[in-house]
Amino acid sequence: MIGVSVLGATGSIGLSTLDVVARNPGRYRVVALSANTDVEGLARLCLSHRPELAAMADPACAEALARRLADQAPEIRVLGGEEGLVAAATHPGADQVMAAIVGAAGLVPALAAVRAGRRILLANKEALVVAGALFMQEVARHGAEVLPIDSEHNAIFQCMPGDFRRGLDRVGVTRILLTASGGPFRTRDPASLDAVTPEEACAHPNWDMGRKISVDSATMMNKGLELIEARWLFDARPDQIQVVVHPQSVIHSMVEYADGSVLAQLGNPDMRTPIAHAMAWPERHASGVAPLDLFQVARLDFEPPDPRRFPCLRLAFEAIESGGTAPAVLNAANEVAVARFLDHRLRFTDIPRLIEQTLHAVAPGDAASLEGLMAVDAEARRVAERIADGMV
Ligand code: NAD
Ligand code: MG
Repeated sequence: MIGVSVLGATGSIGLSTLDVVARNPGRYRVVALSANTDVEGLARLCLSHRPELAAMADPACAEALARRLADQAPEIRVLGGEEGLVAAATHPGADQVMAAIVGAAGLVPALAAVRAGRRILLANKEALVVAGALFMQEVARHGAEVLPIDSEHNAIFQCMPGDFRRGLDRVGVTRILLTASGGPFRTRDPASLDAVTPEEACAHPNWDMGRKISVDSATMMNKGLELIEARWLFDARPDQIQVVVHPQSVIHSMVEYADGSVLAQLGNPDMRTPIAHAMAWPERHASGVAPLDLFQVARLDFEPPDPRRFPCLRLAFEAIESGGTAPAVLNAANEVAVARFLDHRLRFTDIPRLIEQTLHAVAPGDAASLEGLMAVDAEARRVAERIADGMV
């Protein structure tokens, strides 16, 4: 049995992961689960999956969980705080660690799993945006294995030659074609974007996701973060990555080769496919996703992204070109902006403005150490909050 630890178990990706586990009885054993503050949600998962360890980022919630499990599952060890998350990420029985915490909060536990040399199923793209160079260096140093869960990166991984780590130029890969649905506002009148509500922004046409990534998809910062994610996962230069808007979300991304071939991975937009792919790799097994009905799909459309409608994409390209700690600042400012927008304390169109101003205001720091990156992350959050206060 393959031991699995699921970080962010109560979220959209976490629940899909546990669904794939349940569809493959006898193959996986859940050894650790984690969540932030959802005591009842994690308690239910603990009772059905019986992990050895349950961790909650919030220490008071961990105590509440321990009380909640005391009668029905006293054998489950409950830990709180970052220590607890790291214990879940490095549980001795975890062959695979699903990194599905949202935001930079997932970096420390994901990096701990890397340093423990595990197979990391990486959904937490923000970890790579904040600390890409360090993260990939540690993967190599500790012999860890990173399999992308983000549907685009999982598709790219599936379309890449097995030896892509020798270098894209050397294996004849010319471009990565990163597809984007365009989100809910692809065709909406730009003049009306000022009035967008969190509910409208979270109503994605093709995917059912957590709220933060849903807003990222609406601003297309999600594609910006994914650009940086692809840069690190595949050691690609920014000019080797082309964003292609593909509204049906049936092709999940493509790889173009020197001989003119383009390989694509297709499937229904359901995260259980990339999750099952990464868990079973190099084998394949059931995911619960219905087979793709091409006659129903009927057509596939493509268009270039509109840089005026989606300034976040340009900001991400600029951050990647600046390098160093700029992507960490981009990410922190975006997290602040999205949280405030969801809380009705920032207009939708102020999200890119806040990120751009924060990028200009925060001085570069040390991108080579976790401490340096965390310091820049904290400073960028302070600066972004201050700028945002002036915007309301
Ligand atoms: P979600 O909001 O549904 O779930 C987030 C999970 O992380 C929850 O279990 C929550 O308890 C936990 N969490 C939140 N803040 C935390 C903190 N400070 N410390 C510890 N745990 C914390 O999010 P999601 O949509 O499942 O996304 C998770 C990650 O996967 C994100 O990085 C997202 O970009 C990425 N991703 C998601 C999808 C998707 O379809 N949902 C697709 C591609 C990539
Ligand atoms: Mg994606």
